[in-house]
Amino acid sequence: MGRYRVRMKIVENPSLLTYNTFGIDVKARRLVEVEDAAELCRIEEWEHPLLLGRGSDMVFTADYEGTVVRLAEECEGKVKECDGGLSVWGGMVLDELVEHNIAEGYYGLENLSGVPGTVGAGVVQNVGAYGVEIGDVVQRVEVYDRQQCDFHWLNREECRFGYRNSVFKQQGGRYVVVRVELRLGRKFEPCLRYRAVEALPRGTAAEWREALLALRWSKLPKPEEYGSAGSFFKNPVVGAAKYEELRSRFEAMPEGHRVDGIEVAYKISAAWLIDQAGWKGRKMGRVGVWPQQALVLYNAGHCVGSEVVALAAMIRHDVREKFGVELEPEAIII
Ligand SMILES: Cc1cc2nc3c(=O)[nH]c(=O)nc-3n(C[C@H](O)[C@H](O)[C@H](O)COP(=O)(O)OP(=O)(O)OC[C@H]3O[C@@H](n4cnc5c(N)ncnc54)[C@H](O)[C@@H]3O)c2cc1C
Repeated sequence: MGRYRVRMKIVENPSLLTYNTFGIDVKARRLVEVEDAAELCRIEEWEHPLLLGRGSDMVFTADYEGTVVRLAEECEGKVKECDGGLSVWGGMVLDELVEHNIAEGYYGLENLSGVPGTVGAGVVQNVGAYGVEIGDVVQRVEVYDRQQCDFHWLNREECRFGYRNSVFKQQGGRYVVVRVELRLGRKFEPCLRYRAVEALPRGTAAEWREALLALRWSKLPKPEEYGSAGSFFKNPVVGAAKYEELRSRFEAMPEGHRVDGIEVAYKISAAWLIDQAGWKGRKMGRVGVWPQQALVLYNAGHCVGSEVVALAAMIRHDVREKFGVELEPEAIII
């Protein structure tokens, strides 16, 4: 007796308030939290399973009439050494991993300091910040494959990482990311690929992290102060003719980034379009557009999801009217 450990927590009708960074007060019918990946074999028995990490990329517009499934943030063997790097549990909070790595002398993820999600969702989204994407250091990923009902590993190439994209995202919900193996350096070199970080003080890795966190929170709302889902919109990609038209009509428009593809296209700044459409810093009732970063919609006080969606629709309308450009949400609307 006494040896058996409960490896799964089930809560009926839980509030999701603390499980989404927008701070939206909705409920789910049920929450299942697993500490042991083997429990995922039962996922199809649960009603309408929805995988949830920290809910930092989500906006709930209603109660969730199904089962929210989470990998517990704490479990045995959360971080383990493996050949040439670390093996990390998908439920671990990414920022905690960055802090852990710096303390233990594993380098490569410092520029992701402060991204509020989990490691598993980070791999799905190929999260990136200040010139570093998690996919840069991923060696292989262990998944529970809901189609084949088994566990297997995908190597780096099979993950098909792209800009905020991966095979896990493309295959929409087929894979649960369970563990991730990362190849990390043992010598600290600050990654200066992004212009805004070039001027930061470069002392130790811990000092670099502090400087990055200060830079991040000078532009974005801290989740504990104002709810948000980070960047709400994607930067739109427009064809070459449209790009030239915009550049000639709006001389101040920042240069776009050329995107490889069958036809020439350019990714342009959604933040600039929103700002020019007059929305930066504006509030509409209990939701607003963050004054320091127009891509971020925020909770100005106990908002509900439909208010976020309504604000997003007005912004999209005004950007469409002024520029003829369609903005798409980056955040997942549930
Ligand atoms: C203030 C703020 C700043 C942010 N800054 C950045 C930034 O700099 N860069 C950036 O890229 N993003 C940023 N984000 C967005 C967000 O943090 C990332 O998209 C993050 O990866 C989401 O992680 P999560 O655990 O919260 O995922 P959730 O929002 O819970 O889920 C996101 C998606 O992943 C799926 N999912 C969750 N866990 C798993 C799993 N284990 N396996 C398979 N699918 C899973 C969910 O079903 C959902 O489709 C920011 C968000 C906020 C609020």
